[in-house]
Amino acid sequence: MTSYFDPGALIGVLTTQPLDRPLDYRAPEGGCHLGAFVEVPLGPRKVLGVVWGPGRGDFDLSKVRSVIRVLDAAPMRDEMRAFLEKAGAYTLTPMPAMLRLATRAPGLGDPPSMRRVYRLGRGTPDRMTDARTRVLEAAAEMGGLSLTLNELAEAAGVTSSVVKGLVKSGAILEEESPRDTPFPLLDPDHGGKALTEDQSAAAESLRAGQRAGGYETVLLKGVTGSGKTEVYLEAVAEALRQHRQALVLLPEIALSAEFLTRVEARFGARPAEWHSGVTLTERRRVWKMVAEGQAQVVVGARSALFLPFRDLGLIVVDEEHDTSYKQEEGVLYNARDMAVLRASILGAQVVLASATPSSESWANADAGKYKRLTLNARFGAAVLPEMRSLDMRAEKLPANRWISTALQHAIKARMAKGEQALLFINRRGYAPVTLCRACGQQIGCDHCDARMVEHRFLKRLVCHQCGESKPVPTTCPHCQAEDTLAAVGPGVERLAEEAAEHFPEARIAVLSSDLYGTARELKAQILSIAEGGADVIIGTQLVAKGHNFPKLTLVGVIDADLGLQGGDLRAAERTFQLMRQVAGRAGRAEAPGAALLQTYQPEHPVIRAILAGDEEAFWAAEAQERRAAGMPPYGRLAGIILSGEDMGRVFDLGNHLARNDGALRRVGAQVFGPAAAPIARVRGRHRVRLLVKAPKGVALQAALTEWTGQVSLKGDLRMAVDIDPQSF
Ligand code: ADP
Ligand code: ZN
Repeated sequence: MTSYFDPGALIGVLTTQPLDRPLDYRAPEGGCHLGAFVEVPLGPRKVLGVVWGPGRGDFDLSKVRSVIRVLDAAPMRDEMRAFLEKAGAYTLTPMPAMLRLATRAPGLGDPPSMRRVYRLGRGTPDRMTDARTRVLEAAAEMGGLSLTLNELAEAAGVTSSVVKGLVKSGAILEEESPRDTPFPLLDPDHGGKALTEDQSAAAESLRAGQRAGGYETVLLKGVTGSGKTEVYLEAVAEALRQHRQALVLLPEIALSAEFLTRVEARFGARPAEWHSGVTLTERRRVWKMVAEGQAQVVVGARSALFLPFRDLGLIVVDEEHDTSYKQEEGVLYNARDMAVLRASILGAQVVLASATPSSESWANADAGKYKRLTLNARFGAAVLPEMRSLDMRAEKLPANRWISTALQHAIKARMAKGEQALLFINRRGYAPVTLCRACGQQIGCDHCDARMVEHRFLKRLVCHQCGESKPVPTTCPHCQAEDTLAAVGPGVERLAEEAAEHFPEARIAVLSSDLYGTARELKAQILSIAEGGADVIIGTQLVAKGHNFPKLTLVGVIDADLGLQGGDLRAAERTFQLMRQVAGRAGRAEAPGAALLQTYQPEHPVIRAILAGDEEAFWAAEAQERRAAGMPPYGRLAGIILSGEDMGRVFDLGNHLARNDGALRRVGAQVFGPAAAPIARVRGRHRVRLLVKAPKGVALQAALTEWTGQVSLKGDLRMAVDIDPQSF
């Protein structure tokens, strides 16, 4: 296909507007390249688009309009367009939504004259008008952040001349955009460590893959502290030597302060960062530098996968089993799978690193699709913690007490040695349930079916499903009794209270995502703990994710049984991974650690497999069950979520689809449901789910498209398809 279109040539432009295909336009005066970012007229508006190919010419040629202008950004590469198309076809996502993922750089394509940015200054304008007030307010709302002229004018609802008028007095500052400032060069030979024999072998295998230069996916498995990070940083180094770019995806980017410092120590300079906490100005800079190949290494959240890399040679997915890689809103994609897809199109290497790989990756390695590299030992003298269960049936704890005597003694012993202990509870908030002692009713969310959770530090009840919050009421909303509401069950905050009673002299730190206003506060807290600023740490899932706390030698799991109950087929996998990860926090450094699991079911196979550290046995048992049931990773699933305001109509639609399932049966797929979705009501809308189970290797997407295409969605009814749902 041609890669350049002469002026006036018929071209197809894909826009971010919800239309099902590229529209025909005429190439502008100077012509344009395939992949160019352009501004085109659409009705009365101007919209962003990408030149996707030649026009179709099936539209009245006399009505075809011209491209308004070609934006000042490197054209989208063929590889990226192919990736968006394949990812869209896989997740059954319309192309405009895919394109939006890839154009998330604010200010994309500002012409050079607009490469100035504006922010609030200290000066006082000579004269105030309503329009000027609005500009100053809009600028003040951005804090210290800068906007382009158009963005600020748009935010204030004024013309750009009003903004300009405020520059002279210094009320608004006009500055050169910092987005052209290059990143410092990373040096692959700066701070490499001497690797152990195991590590060297794995690193060499990754380097060889980098030198060969084609596509491969490698599952890098090793217990926490075995040096997986050291090893994959060697792959990054080799990518740098090959003059290719590298992307490291992390699940919880807020926690990457320590990680960035580590990358800086290894390569002598800081890599680029990409996640929701990065400022607009910095995002513009990263987007541009990535496209120009000037940003060599990007450390980012899953959305970094859609950055316009010039020559990407390596994608690392750290903690690849982490469920936060699945985007659960908007485009439903799993960043791990999309990383593999993008790399296979590019001819790049993927490294999936984990101590506890997902069942999918485990199965792909078993099938020989992924290469497997294993690090068996922890680095240095550090050994895996001793793991024991504490049988809570023998404890007879008083009501509302959660820390067993054995665990209390163990914590005191660690504190006496100047070491840290971690109490892990997989529940945020003060207590999971607030109920009335008079009528026994629980306080639920007004907007969905979830229970409200008391957050004492926030002095509010919060819904963990939809985010709704309200003050803790003084009278019961059900029976109107006064002062009868009680918080029941363990949560981090209540556990912190109990710990303070048992260990009055201890410095207690609570680490829970909802207690911190900003990512920066959380980073500071984590650093302080790492430096020994706490004796007892109380934490939720957050702490399970890859921090290095050198003084931490004891982990007490308050409720190891959580997650074993419930109908979720993945519960066993989740519990196994979580417990292994948490236990991995203990004794990474020289001091040997211990992990104590409080459980009411010490004989449960999952608890036993965790204690024995017997992954092979655990996976063998899991694999057998799932294969027999045709469940992932040995079969495929898709969830169809139907929603609407009227529950009856939503179910009717679900039943209609379930009855007319010929398109599915032709490929050997089965449909289950309709049933209430895992989250049955969100923001006043009822949600119903159909689950489709299909054998591997059939054309599932095509069958789904045909099947769902039978119905038209009337009124407020909506349908979303979730390929490979996380819970089933
Ligand atoms: P993982 O990613 O598997 O959890 P890390 O790569 O974080 O393991 O290694 C754990 C700790 O051991 C880190 O502090 C790391 O710097 C250190 N370490 C690992 N391998 C080496 C090595 N070969 N030389 C020096 N330190 C090492
Ligand atoms: Zn809610």
